[in-house]
Amino acid sequence: MATETDPAVARSDAVTSVGDRAPSSWGLGDGQAIPWDYAPAPESRDVVRLKERYGLFIGGKDVAASDGQVFTSVNPATEEPLAEVARATAADMDAAVRAARTAFRRRWGGLPGKERAKYLFRIARILQERSREFAVLESMDSGKPIKESRDVDVPLAAAHFWYYAGWADKLEYAFPGRVAKPLGVAGQIIPWNFPLLMLAWKIAPALAAGNTVVLKPASTTPLSALLFADVCRQADLPPGVVNIVPGPGEIGMSLVTHPGVDKVAFTGSTDIGKKIYKGVAGTDKGLTLELGGKAANIVFDDAPLDQAVEGIVNGIYFNQGEVCCAGSRLLAQESIVEPLIEKLKDRLSTIRVGDPLDKNTDVGAINSRAQLEKITELVAAGRAEGAEMYQPACDLPDRGYFFRPTLFTNVAQSSRIAREEIFGPVLSVLTFRTPEEAVEKANNTPYGLSAGVWTDKGSRILHMVKRMKAGVVWANTFNRFDPTSPFGGYKESGFGREGGMHGLHAYVRLEDR
Ligand code: NDP
Repeated sequence: MATETDPAVARSDAVTSVGDRAPSSWGLGDGQAIPWDYAPAPESRDVVRLKERYGLFIGGKDVAASDGQVFTSVNPATEEPLAEVARATAADMDAAVRAARTAFRRRWGGLPGKERAKYLFRIARILQERSREFAVLESMDSGKPIKESRDVDVPLAAAHFWYYAGWADKLEYAFPGRVAKPLGVAGQIIPWNFPLLMLAWKIAPALAAGNTVVLKPASTTPLSALLFADVCRQADLPPGVVNIVPGPGEIGMSLVTHPGVDKVAFTGSTDIGKKIYKGVAGTDKGLTLELGGKAANIVFDDAPLDQAVEGIVNGIYFNQGEVCCAGSRLLAQESIVEPLIEKLKDRLSTIRVGDPLDKNTDVGAINSRAQLEKITELVAAGRAEGAEMYQPACDLPDRGYFFRPTLFTNVAQSSRIAREEIFGPVLSVLTFRTPEEAVEKANNTPYGLSAGVWTDKGSRILHMVKRMKAGVVWANTFNRFDPTSPFGGYKESGFGREGGMHGLHAYVRLEDR
């Protein structure tokens, strides 16, 4: 392990203040301490059998791209190539939409709900049975720590299939007095921060409601979606019900604008979300957009501070901060800002950054070089604009895309780090005096995806929740997800809801009985 890493990308040489706390220590009671550290606890890669080359999954078959092109998926923690993946063309996308249309017309669209449910239950069970394989592959391809892919991404992905399997034969109860009809073919585009989980959020409700799917994974993280194709085969899902088509962003647009697509679902950046909005304008396609965020995590002076610190850390350093609903703006009440920052710095010094496959790792690798460069650039902008930076003194691996957990104080509201989505482990601290000021600052953003409130008073939670323009507000917790609970945004964070019954709604046409 070295303190500094790849010279090509400026990382922590830009540090203004680096914590000097020892890793961890046992007190001896006489003022002395024995420093100790965690031994490496790497998860084995053997459970994953990587193919040298992956095809597109169209009509139940593994096929090469029509022009034979491939791209390479890279492990962001080691910069090693993992596998070659077929790079779809517009002709391949057309073939995938046709396969989905045929499967909808001939089989899936007319299948009774209880039959669809059997397939979804089967997929959920297989995901659970193969959970270790999925977790390891996801960590290798995306850079997220194994403890997150193992304990969050994969179990939640399976939970979405369990949950929507339960709805498949009960749509009349989800929409009382109405008849819920499937829309047809859903075109779905997902990002790289939660590759398998976003796939589950999109595919499970679509299939439960009787639609078929063409899904484009992100180019940096196609592998868990392609392993999911294997799960579809194992579950005997009729060919064409799910099609997985990796390829560049433009191919995503050819899915969006394809006349054979009835509904588009997108999760990703606000910029691409706007393009997709234009792409469906003037058609009768359904659209849900889950875009960026700049969430405020508000801590009042009566909050249990130690608990709040855990929530702040989970809010911004979970998944390297590459989370659309990350609590990237900490709003601390002025009277407690000093002890809160002190506790936060203490806690940051215990965060372990490194090998995503090590079970002790808290913060893994940034997903791509491009994302690391974006984080580095925004952090430099924060410093140039006069904010004060703190990073704990942790070693970073020699290779790979890593960034230290970062904390900015003295942040002006107008600063880029307070306004722009950084999508990295970077927290900006702002302060407030009154609840009204907190609401005003929290809402002072073009985004509106999520927020957090920490206080001892239930009435204050209700007061704040009513005033904050965010799709999800967590009270005395952060980054909690559940398949039964709807998730989505306001303003530039998009529209439509995923999860819960709301998530089903986006995949049905309601008719009178
Ligand atoms: P994008 O929005 O570009 O990528 C998300 C998905 O959209 C990927 O599958 C991507 O494919 C696809 N895509 C890209 N261009 C198009 C297009 N023209 N038409 C249709 N689909 C397209 O996000 P980035 O990966 O570029 O990340 C940039 C920033 O976006 C991040 O720094 C972060 O701030 C934000 N972001 C937000 C996410 C969220 O969950 N809200 C998720 C990811 C990023 P491909 O991978 O092939 O380019």
